Amino acid sequence: MVNFNVSDFSKLQPNYFGYDNLDRMTDYRNDLNWFEKLNKKNVKIVPVWNSSILFERAIKSQENFTSILFPNLYDFEEFIENQNLKILLGSRNKSTVNEIFLCIDFSNSTQKKINSIMQSFGEFRSLRDASPKLDKFKGSLAAYAIAISNWHKQNKFCNTCGAKTLVSNAGHQINCSQKHCAYIQFPRMDPAVIMLIHNNNKTLLGRQTIWPKGMYSTLAGFVEPGETLENAVAREAYEEAGIKVHKIKYHSSQPWPFPSSLMLGFFAEATSTKIKINKSEIEDVRWFTKGELLNFHDQNKFLPRKISIARRLIDDWLNEK
Ligand SMILES: [Zn+2]
Repeated sequence: MVNFNVSDFSKLQPNYFGYDNLDRMTDYRNDLNWFEKLNKKNVKIVPVWNSSILFERAIKSQENFTSILFPNLYDFEEFIENQNLKILLGSRNKSTVNEIFLCIDFSNSTQKKINSIMQSFGEFRSLRDASPKLDKFKGSLAAYAIAISNWHKQNKFCNTCGAKTLVSNAGHQINCSQKHCAYIQFPRMDPAVIMLIHNNNKTLLGRQTIWPKGMYSTLAGFVEPGETLENAVAREAYEEAGIKVHKIKYHSSQPWPFPSSLMLGFFAEATSTKIKINKSEIEDVRWFTKGELLNFHDQNKFLPRKISIARRLIDDWLNEK
């Protein structure tokens, strides 16, 4: 039983999608009969379909406020087919019950099957659209299920020889089907840095063309091979905005399974303030004072949603004394 909650160790609350507090049951993964050995009456299903997750059916006026659904295996068994990918996510103690969570990926099911699931339970929707009132445990478990099922979707063929792959270790390993190759793959994430750049009472925010009109957020970018995280922070700030930074400090991280990022959040102090926008990467970058951010709506601008680490970085900076 290995069950961690980061807030037990530090005062820092995890970001959304980072509350998993789960025993990942790694000792079951090497057992070929892991599924047979689960206590079925305690198994809850985390259904995934094309990177979407099952929510209660929305009522039009409150559509962002429905709950994520993890039905009991016994209520869901009739919908599960042999070809559906099964991934053992882990367990947690709730009252006297040890709940076990099993991701079933329905992406290869027929539309008819999906329709019958939705008719009986609710609707598949993107976790990205979830409300900030989202149950934190459920949100984290859903993010984990989506990330690992996305990894399976991207690795149906061996990266080395191109042969078909086989799922093993309760869904946590992919093996090449060819004996002469025998290449093994483990779940991967793409590290990305995201940084709150500040200078005195101002912070540097930018926007991309594809974002909703008026939204400004912190700068971010993928870490490149052979690069440290702090170097990625400094490079992205200079590439996107022509700003030099120092005093780069780690803040917190967030799994962001759209499709497979791990966001690593930093604060950094700018040593220069003259912006030089790289239009091929970003549409606009500006300095904003705390006062301007607090009245952002008056300027027809808005900040990213509360579920994002970007917003956490901004809010923590605004609340700094
Ligand atoms: Zn291979």
